[in-house]
Amino acid sequence: METHFSQEQLKNKDNKSSEKILRKCVHCGFCNATCPTYQLLGDELDGPRGRIYLIKDMLENNKPANEIIVKHIDRCLSCYSCMTTCPSGVNYMHLIDHGRSHIEKTYKRPFRDRIIRDILSITLSKSINFRIVAIITKFIKPFRFFFPKKLREMILLMPGKFPKKTLPKMKVYRPQKRKKPVARVALLTGCVQKVLSPQINEATIKLLNRHDIEVVVPKGIDCCGSLNHHLGKSDLAKKVFKKNISIWYEEYLKNGLDAIISNTSGCGTTLKDYGFIFRSDENFKKKSKKISELTKDISEYLDENVKLDFIQNKENNKKYQIAYHSACSMQHGQKIHEAPINLLKKTGNKVFNIPDGHLCCGSAGTYNLLQGDIAKKLLRNKIFNIKKINPQFIATGNIGCITQISNGTKIPILHTVEIIDWYTGGVKPNVLEKL
Ligand code: SF4
Ligand code: SF4
Repeated sequence: METHFSQEQLKNKDNKSSEKILRKCVHCGFCNATCPTYQLLGDELDGPRGRIYLIKDMLENNKPANEIIVKHIDRCLSCYSCMTTCPSGVNYMHLIDHGRSHIEKTYKRPFRDRIIRDILSITLSKSINFRIVAIITKFIKPFRFFFPKKLREMILLMPGKFPKKTLPKMKVYRPQKRKKPVARVALLTGCVQKVLSPQINEATIKLLNRHDIEVVVPKGIDCCGSLNHHLGKSDLAKKVFKKNISIWYEEYLKNGLDAIISNTSGCGTTLKDYGFIFRSDENFKKKSKKISELTKDISEYLDENVKLDFIQNKENNKKYQIAYHSACSMQHGQKIHEAPINLLKKTGNKVFNIPDGHLCCGSAGTYNLLQGDIAKKLLRNKIFNIKKINPQFIATGNIGCITQISNGTKIPILHTVEIIDWYTGGVKPNVLEKL
């Protein structure tokens, strides 16, 4: 694609990298075929190619965003299905991140939108804030009809129950069998996940410990920063990124780290992008690159590095039919697809890909909260496709998808790591009690 940035504009590092991305696009439109919003809405501007043109126009002409541009960019799920499809290697992820940040700087959203986005930014990016809001929501749920539609939908999406933690809070979880662990990894426990589903982190820690791997959860790391990053609030996000990078890098230098484990694929995608985000920052360039290199999704780490010790007992000798839901951030963002399926197959169960599995379930970070109508349609389609497999339960690797999909079906849904933990000597997940 021809671009017309001036030399002055190209002195800006973000313009420079976006220009490179734009020049790779040959406007073939293949990406539209696999874009969930283009499929649902049928408008060129609700597909990747149209959005690329909108972003190009804003950046190249140094134009502030307007209502129309914001509408179509906001409707993008950042699912990156278009990146998997694109034959020219267009990095849509970096382009839309730049576009969102430009919108945040140049467009004043209507008051109500600003309030909602600020509430989400404050609530979801800190686990303590999220915990407080979760408790309040529990009490106001019966009175939700008094709230405006958007808030009502948000309240409804909050689960009614929050499982209790069973592991004590520690900085280092040491394997019990051996004195010297075979590896040492840091775990990102996440902001929303540790409130909604603490059992996912616990299964991860227990599983790694049982396989002689030491797990460290450094103090001071909560959110990975992706939430604000995707809301276009790049300054807030960068503060969190820098704090995380500094803490992990210090741990890496002082005590050694073989990997940084993410068990939420949305967060893992952002961690793996820290290196790009700070590519021109002299203070953080080297550190962020190292953190991105160390980051592994738990399924990727287990598949590549751990000889899993599967144990059959009377609790897990029954065979199940599992539908594997590949989160967009996992398959398109991190390009991990086979690893979790390989692991699940090793449990002896039958594992099936969901038809049209490249399409998003509608979760997409805060998308189901901000774009409820589209998210509901995507969820409906996802459930329809899951039911074609007739599974006893669903496995996935992202808390956002777990929350979204469980709002549309009674079929139990678990994190892949909970299943692997169970089949290697851990406890049977609670949601499978009745199976
Ligand atoms: S598939 Fe790639 S090259 Fe073709 S229009 Fe989409 S982004 Fe551009
Ligand atoms: S990220 Fe997803 S929703 Fe956005 S343009 Fe690409 S395919 Fe469409």
